[in-house]
Amino acid sequence: MATPPTGSRARGVDFLSIDSMLTEEEQMIRDSVRAFVNDKVLPIMAECFEEGRFPTELIPEMGEMGLLGSYLEGYGCAGTSHTAYGLVCQELERGDSGIRSFVSVQTSLVMFPIHAYGSEEQKQKWLPKLASGEAIGCFGLTEPDYGSDPGAMITRAERTDSGWLLNGAKMWITNGSMSDVAVVWAQTEDGIRGFLVETGTPGYEIRTQKHKFSLRASVTSELYFDKVALPEDAILPKSAGLKSPLSCLSSARFGISWGAIGLASACYEEALRYGSERIVFGKPVVAHQLQQAKLADMLTAITKGQLLNLRVSRMREDGSADFAHISMAKRDGCRTARDCARVAREMLGANGIVFEYPIARHMANIESVYTYEGTDDVHTLILGQRITGHAAYS
Ligand SMILES: Cc1cc2nc3c(=O)[nH]c(=O)nc-3n(C[C@H](O)[C@H](O)[C@H](O)COP(=O)(O)OP(=O)(O)OC[C@H]3O[C@@H](n4cnc5c(N)ncnc54)[C@H](O)[C@@H]3O)c2cc1C
Repeated sequence: MATPPTGSRARGVDFLSIDSMLTEEEQMIRDSVRAFVNDKVLPIMAECFEEGRFPTELIPEMGEMGLLGSYLEGYGCAGTSHTAYGLVCQELERGDSGIRSFVSVQTSLVMFPIHAYGSEEQKQKWLPKLASGEAIGCFGLTEPDYGSDPGAMITRAERTDSGWLLNGAKMWITNGSMSDVAVVWAQTEDGIRGFLVETGTPGYEIRTQKHKFSLRASVTSELYFDKVALPEDAILPKSAGLKSPLSCLSSARFGISWGAIGLASACYEEALRYGSERIVFGKPVVAHQLQQAKLADMLTAITKGQLLNLRVSRMREDGSADFAHISMAKRDGCRTARDCARVAREMLGANGIVFEYPIARHMANIESVYTYEGTDDVHTLILGQRITGHAAYS
């Protein structure tokens, strides 16, 4: 068996002793989520993926552990560091991207905008329930015709005597069909604003999107708004323009960059474990030079991703990280994860394609993660603009 620091299930992949750069609290949170994933998530994930089912039974425990809205202050949230939030995402995605997506959406796309742009009444009403997992939220930005270009959205909220009238549709919405509340972004006479739309409001319909190859253990839905009458106080009063949903995306993308490295680590660890036991031409797969090159490349890419994520985290904590720094981490993390999943799968030979091993599941999941929250192309354009000063989107 290879050396424990690069493949131990207890501590994870840590070739450069990055643990020593984490606080004791961050290590403790990471270890507890790691144990939760090993004990509760991994044993059921292949079945959930095959059945196309999100494991709702895990939500109360994630709430009790403080994983929902973890880095937010007050209202029943744990108030951890951004790094701790990143570590939560890393460990959850080692289990499955669907579980990490659930926590990302609840935390960064639902609780964060309510915390940042909501009224005191909205915060009191929703945040404690969302933190405990008693209530579930979703985030409606993407539309059937507009994904990478959300500023062109069609969904519109018109002022009425008693509040607002909402019309439009959203698509690809994580958690949609199991949500109690949706954070919906719509055009108004004052530009794009956020609204809280409660499930069951007349004219609001949710349809589950089925037949996915990827992120099968996650709920994805379409939201339809047909003359939905909303009260005056449904608007997030401090939301102002496209920059408000984009700030939510920055928070979610930050977590995804950590999650992607968790996925890459899971694939690397599985390839190392399997390749250490499987004998080909008289010796373990990993004893062959060609396979060692693959492991060396994976370990190096994962380690670089860990360092990038930690640096961006610490910059977020001192207030110096901006969206372009996060774009670099999201883009690089997803590229690393995609490459590691593909190479790890080939190292398992035929066993790489079956549900018994997690790699094909991760390989399918990373296609969604690579696509949502800004595709690789979009993050490339964000970096291109930062580097050159020229926007090249259109
Ligand atoms: C499983 C899943 C869950 C999701 N969850 C949510 C959610 O909870 N809430 C939500 O609002 N959305 C969600 N999304 C939507 C996701 O954010 C969008 O799919 C994503 O932003 C891409 O948009 P699109 O699919 O419309 O692709 P398009 O925007 O149509 O892009 C098509 C292709 O064109 C490329 N492209 C786009 N613009 C440019 C350009 N300027 N130059 C060059 N190439 C370009 C893209 O990179 C892509 O390759 C989810 C998506 C998936 C798959």
